[in-house]
Amino acid sequence: MVDLRSDTLTRPSEGMRRAMATAEVGDDVFGEDPTVRKLEAMAADRLGFEAALFVPTGTMGNQIAIHLHTSPGDDVLLDRSSHIYNYELGAMAAWSGVVPRILDGVSGAPLPEQLRQSIGPEIYYMARPTLLTLENSANHAGGTVLDPDRTAALLDIAERHNVRTHLDGARVFNAAVALDCGPADLASRFDTAMFCLSKGLGAPVGSLLCGSSDLIRDARVVRKRMGGGMRQSGILAAAGLYALDHNVERLVHDHAGARSLAVAMANHPAFKIDPETVVTNIVIAEVVEPFEAGSILSALAGRQILGVGMGPGRIRLVTHLDVGENEIQQAVDTLAALPNVPDMS
Ligand SMILES: *Cc1c(COP(=O)(O)O)cnc(C)c1O
Repeated sequence: MVDLRSDTLTRPSEGMRRAMATAEVGDDVFGEDPTVRKLEAMAADRLGFEAALFVPTGTMGNQIAIHLHTSPGDDVLLDRSSHIYNYELGAMAAWSGVVPRILDGVSGAPLPEQLRQSIGPEIYYMARPTLLTLENSANHAGGTVLDPDRTAALLDIAERHNVRTHLDGARVFNAAVALDCGPADLASRFDTAMFCLSKGLGAPVGSLLCGSSDLIRDARVVRKRMGGGMRQSGILAAAGLYALDHNVERLVHDHAGARSLAVAMANHPAFKIDPETVVTNIVIAEVVEPFEAGSILSALAGRQILGVGMGPGRIRLVTHLDVGENEIQQAVDTLAALPNVPDMS
């Protein structure tokens, strides 16, 4: 089976398991796990921040950040396609009492003009946006990388209006590799940034929230309150250290594989996709009527290729560490050989 449903499916490699098995550990709630400390220091350094906090999930990292940057009743500015809005189950309302203010942006992020209009003048009886979150790479937009100039313009506007900024950088290493820059170039201007070890980097569990030393000291308190204090988590942090040492540069292969899949889809009448827009490891194609996403996914599954639906009429394929060149070729051949008629059974 070639499993292209998500890059979260990767399993720890032999080398990673060895690193985990031999990790030096202590009780991290007591601040005594040397491997967690090492991972937090490395993460902060890579993303260009003073400090970082190891958290079990990206969702917790995002939500701790939102909690720190806002007060109950505030608005949070974000794009309609964002993970924080769509896949975190209203956590910002549940944990922090804040309200999402949704912007209908382009390619996964608002345009500077939209942001400017949505902030408006400060009047005491008007809802107050105090935080802007951006996502890079932008999953729902097809793993697109945010345009650095647009990001800079958005951050300028936020800064001018005292709006804090958080980067949901679940896949910021993919974005950095695609742009041939360092992750700090994409992250360090934000007040906080989160990235996941558990996606394309191939670790079993874990994300990091990066920020100033002051913010991360507070973040540690919020993490504990949310139930995210972990004990001998050096076992998990060791996987993260291994991932940062071994699994970053190789992301180019995932990106090349995704492009090949996109080309194969573009050549089939069932799909609409511009392969040029596929720059990281996520491929999202529109399904052209009368073809139907459900039957295409079943037909692919029957031919040993797994993908997922992404909203009505869209199919997502994701390349990752556990999908080699041969498997990509198998998926490309299978896509090319799919029937040219809507009934693919
Ligand atoms: C996966 C992901 C997260 C965090 O997800 P968890 O499953 O909670 O680790 C956040 N943002 C984006 C864009 C993601 O893809």
